[in-house]
Amino acid sequence: MVTERHQIDGERISVLGIPVSNVNMDRAVDLIDQLVQSGDSHIVTTADSSGIVIAKSDPELTTIYKEASLVTPDSYGVVWGLKKAGIRADRVTGVDLVDRLFKLSAEKGYRVFLLGAEPGIADAAAERIRLLHPGINIVGTHHGYFPATDDEFVAQEVAPHKPDILIVAMGIPRQEKFITHTMPIIKAKVGIGVGGTLDVYSGRAKRAPKLIQKMRMEWLWRVILNPKKLTKTMMLPRFAWMLLTEKKK
Ligand code: UDP
Repeated sequence: MVTERHQIDGERISVLGIPVSNVNMDRAVDLIDQLVQSGDSHIVTTADSSGIVIAKSDPELTTIYKEASLVTPDSYGVVWGLKKAGIRADRVTGVDLVDRLFKLSAEKGYRVFLLGAEPGIADAAAERIRLLHPGINIVGTHHGYFPATDDEFVAQEVAPHKPDILIVAMGIPRQEKFITHTMPIIKAKVGIGVGGTLDVYSGRAKRAPKLIQKMRMEWLWRVILNPKKLTKTMMLPRFAWMLLTEKKK
């Protein structure tokens, strides 16, 4: 049973105060397709446990999550939060969702722009994506290493490419803020923040083997390969603690 307090609207369920969309992968892709065709600009976020912890002390990120057109449950922690609210959900991760969006874009001729990661990575990712999804129209790429004060300047460079789907891979919360701040300039139909996804496509970062993913140990695999991930990983016990000690209203 879904309790009153978790039901924010027909499709959003509160996980520690962040409204997460009750969607599976097919539904998320379908909704994004509708958003692209709606004519307006929309932000889509893939919320993982660290994002929800960050949002607790970042009111701007909280507002972005609340106003996003779609907030997918990206991590097992968020899926657990949904389960606590009586909702059975599967993960809809940035990497998997983006792959489906590339497929959709290739089928429907949507214009895709890739922004984020270190110089050269978005280009390498684009090459690989074109092989995986023949016919896809990747209209441009840009690296993700510039200060927030240059957001407007970078947006002016992206805008002439008229992307339907803007993929932003700069990590939470930088990517969500970039999309929100530059939406009036770039006017993409959908801007989506996807973390380290371009590193994965470029071949620079590999996902954990399926068995490790199934054991729910992908976080440990990532920390071993990239110790910089430790800060983010440290947020997982905090997320679990917050969920376990959440007071019922
Ligand atoms: N990144 C970036 N600009 C920055 C900081 C990071 O483009 O100023 C990129 C980084 O190179 C990596 C991605 O953002 O490709 C962050 O990946 P991570 O897996 O840490 O993101 P998460 O999904 O964990 O938020």
